[in-house]
Amino acid sequence: AAGAADPRLVAAIRAAAERLIGEEERLTELDRAVGDGDLGANLARGARAVLAELGTYENRSAAAVLRALSATLRRTVGGTSGALYAAGLLRAAGALEGKAAPGAGDWAGALAAGAGAIATLGDAKIGDRTMLDALLPAAERLGGAAPGDLAAAVSAARDGAARSADIAPRRGRSSYLGERVLGLPDPGAEAVAAWLAAIAAALRP
Ligand code: ADP
Ligand code: MG
Ligand code: MG
Repeated sequence: AAGAADPRLVAAIRAAAERLIGEEERLTELDRAVGDGDLGANLARGARAVLAELGTYENRSAAAVLRALSATLRRTVGGTSGALYAAGLLRAAGALEGKAAPGAGDWAGALAAGAGAIATLGDAKIGDRTMLDALLPAAERLGGAAPGDLAAAVSAARDGAARSADIAPRRGRSSYLGERVLGLPDPGAEAVAAWLAAIAAALRP
């Protein structure tokens, strides 16, 4: 059908969801150490809901798929992450509106738009020890010299998540714990690196 989702988009979403389910325990442990311990379960709950409705994505445009993802994550994930991912996906969907076959540059633009929406809603920037420490460098790399270089975007996300371990928290619940969190990475940034790596692996040519 016209505007039907690229099967690779569905495969990428499946891979991201399965990875988040696989990471539930690690993210829970990490959020227990530096936050309130719910991130792993929250993201896994969202991922299971996404897997359950994956079949309904097949005949929709990329923009419609991201809008559906946004609604499902808003409903199922909860917490700070649920609201932020929902806002980011909605903005990313807007960036893809009307594009029947989005290319690498379109996807890079969508990721950057989504990350920007998260930064606005979260009132956070790079270096605030949040998911943006992985997401913003990844978006920048994806839209850089070789648009669509997912492997480069993944290493940028991983480096950013690793660097978050050296940052004293200023946003989210971690900020209540102050310097006690130093040495451990931000769980939200680790989650971004994990789902992005799964997408890259699923789309590897
Ligand atoms: P909570 O349990 O505090 O509601 P979650 O466990 O759902 O939050 O998500 C925690 C993650 O959300 C953090 O590790 C961080 O990456 C991200 N985060 C928290 N606050 C913000 C913010 N203001 N802006 C961007 N990301 C944030
Ligand atoms: Mg939490
Ligand atoms: Mg919570």
